[in-house]
Amino acid sequence: STLTTPSSDTFQIHLTDTPVADAERAAALASPQFGTVFTDHMARVSWTHATGWTGRRVEKYGPLLLDPATAVLHYGQEVFEGLKAYRHPDDSVWTFRPDANAARFARSARRLALPELPEADFLGAIRALVAVDREWVPSGEETSLYLRPFMYASERFLGVRPSLEAEFLVIASPVGPYFAGGVKPVSIWVSQDYHRAGAGGTGAAKCGGNYAASLLPQQEAYAKGFEQVCFLDDRTNTQLEELGGMNVVVVMADGSVVTPALSGTILEGVTRSSILTLLAEGGHEVAERPLLLEDLRRGLADGSVTEVFACGTAAVMTPIGRLASDDFDLVVGDGTAGPVTTRIRAQLTDIQYGRAADRHGWMHRL
Ligand code: PMP
Repeated sequence: STLTTPSSDTFQIHLTDTPVADAERAAALASPQFGTVFTDHMARVSWTHATGWTGRRVEKYGPLLLDPATAVLHYGQEVFEGLKAYRHPDDSVWTFRPDANAARFARSARRLALPELPEADFLGAIRALVAVDREWVPSGEETSLYLRPFMYASERFLGVRPSLEAEFLVIASPVGPYFAGGVKPVSIWVSQDYHRAGAGGTGAAKCGGNYAASLLPQQEAYAKGFEQVCFLDDRTNTQLEELGGMNVVVVMADGSVVTPALSGTILEGVTRSSILTLLAEGGHEVAERPLLLEDLRRGLADGSVTEVFACGTAAVMTPIGRLASDDFDLVVGDGTAGPVTTRIRAQLTDIQYGRAADRHGWMHRL
């Protein structure tokens, strides 16, 4: 491979000598399926307890060679992030609030007893990778380059203690809309049997184990005909927390908005926080507080709740059209996307795709 000048100050660039052919890349960009195609390169930084972070580089995308005793394979010591790079009408490429993802990544790492990656390396790795794989950022409507930073315990060791070695990587995948149906409302199964997180556990961290715990409930809900699961709090089993990969927000008939307060068992979504800002600026009264399932059921039945939506980087904002569990089955509004969901979604995506001014300083040019 070719070694060119370092990028983003510190990242050495080792270009692949077998890039994907132009025609093949063009086909992948024309109809991207979420998380199935990856770019030519990946960014990487290595850590050991003795040396700290070293070996900042961009190299050919490819398989990792892992010793069978590598710690992550046994105890799941791993954290990750998800953010997107957007191509603007003038062909510049931008990402959305990457500093928030860097900070959350460091918090997740601390909870998993992994080393905290400095923000400069988190951003530098993204910058260096996107600089090399810029042609992989799609330009179609609602498309983007999904960036997946992650870190895993790489020490070859079977004892249960924090790994003395870790690898940080960023891979990238061109994506279109997350749900096959586009912005169509999704149906949600409220799980009263399973929880994704418990008090004092890892719910507020973005670690693989949380997602592993959500797969069986997700599979069972899917078999019942539902697309996603909403989890309740584990202490009382009465309060809505979030979906397996998205936060949840409720809109009332009077225009006020409620979302579950960050309880320690909910992931602090970057999309959630941005939407709450846009809602408050739009004159909506915004409350972060415990959200009782019983109150939501009553509100849906008597019409005082008019919209419910899920939000996250992958799906942006997705209206929830139906909410059900063992003992209820309710339609939200008339089952289609409501006006507040539609308006705020447009505001947010207009900022992300460079169609509206970025008054908050959320966009970072890559
Ligand atoms: N909750 C969970 C469990 C998630 O995995 C995600 C996706 N990161 C979110 C909420 C939404 O977070 P964000 O808006 O930062 O993507």
